[in-house]
Amino acid sequence: MSTIGILGGGQLARMLALAGAPLGLRFLVVDSAEDACAGQVAPLLRADWRDFDKLADFAARVDVATFDFENVPADTAQWLTEHVPVFPNPRALAISQDRLAEKTLFREIGLDTPEFATVDGRDDLARALERIGAPAILKTRRLGYDGKGQFRLKSPADVDAAWNALGGAPSILEAFVPFERELSVIAVRSREGEFRAYPLTQNWHAEGILSASLAPAPDSEALAPIAYAHARRIAEELDYVGTFALELFVRDGKLLGNEMAPRVHNSGHWTIEGAPASQFENHLRAVLGLPLGDTGALDVHVMLNWVGELPDALPILAEPRAHWHDYGKSARAGRKVGHATVCARSAAEMRERLTRIGAALGREAQVAPVLAALGRE
Ligand code: AMP
Repeated sequence: MSTIGILGGGQLARMLALAGAPLGLRFLVVDSAEDACAGQVAPLLRADWRDFDKLADFAARVDVATFDFENVPADTAQWLTEHVPVFPNPRALAISQDRLAEKTLFREIGLDTPEFATVDGRDDLARALERIGAPAILKTRRLGYDGKGQFRLKSPADVDAAWNALGGAPSILEAFVPFERELSVIAVRSREGEFRAYPLTQNWHAEGILSASLAPAPDSEALAPIAYAHARRIAEELDYVGTFALELFVRDGKLLGNEMAPRVHNSGHWTIEGAPASQFENHLRAVLGLPLGDTGALDVHVMLNWVGELPDALPILAEPRAHWHDYGKSARAGRKVGHATVCARSAAEMRERLTRIGAALGREAQVAPVLAALGRE
């Protein structure tokens, strides 16, 4: 009987614990918040990332440690490795915590990125904008997620506002990419180096937060092997163990690397019902050194996110092959509180289901781009 320690007690830790139950796994979750939602399904140890006494107690009680949150300080992760095996390794975590290191790695392994420049001061920003041109996005190198730590510049007049909005933090300025679409690869690599990837997922964001995902992404047969090869090279370069996401833009039919998440990812939630082994189960298999499970898609799958407020879930539950996941969190603006996954045998069947759910919940705008993508099937 193995016990998995998880740093961070949000919905990702919660879904990892739920996926591990059939495998007979035990969990111990660390979070500083008393009401961390993974604590409803697994034992919760309340501790700060710098509370090394409590973390030593945590390490003594688990067989392997992993993350639901990529912003755990890399030195805390490094310290933990002296007490317990930690996957993914602290270097992989550190690189994906820093947009500059991450994009540099992408370029090194042959994955193009949007044009970018390092910004360490206001004058750097003005120079970078001159070189890259407007519109552009200023992003903090660290601690940015779900569109946080970003400022869009429409013209050079926005330099001061952008610099002040991000509090002068070390940043990168990135060219704004008028992409055709956004895709992600959810991939997993085991302790033995076995690599698998799920079918490409197409994603839509609203205000920087994932709104909907469709898998398999339509018309992606040509891009999929290229995306998998990039994901594999990144994983091998980092000696990565576990599930991760590589987020990509498609521009002029070509892939550009946006960012990677060193953990299970929101755009892979459809795999719970949509794949023989979910991203959560495969993460657990990977960190335990077990064989990986099948990553094929069973059917057509759409994931819809709920941010801020929970819906009336009844119209979702009433729909055939639609599933509702309530994370057990209290409502708060900008907070992910639940998701729905809808499965169907065909694009036509999916369109019918999504149209009904969208109408019943007043979510027509959220499902509209997915319906349009399915319409081309
Ligand atoms: P990020 O946190 O960097 O993944 O950004 C969140 C979302 O903002 C992305 O998924 C895109 O929808 C959008 N975005 C980020 N960077 C760019 C860019 N360089 N050009 C256009 N849109 C972007």
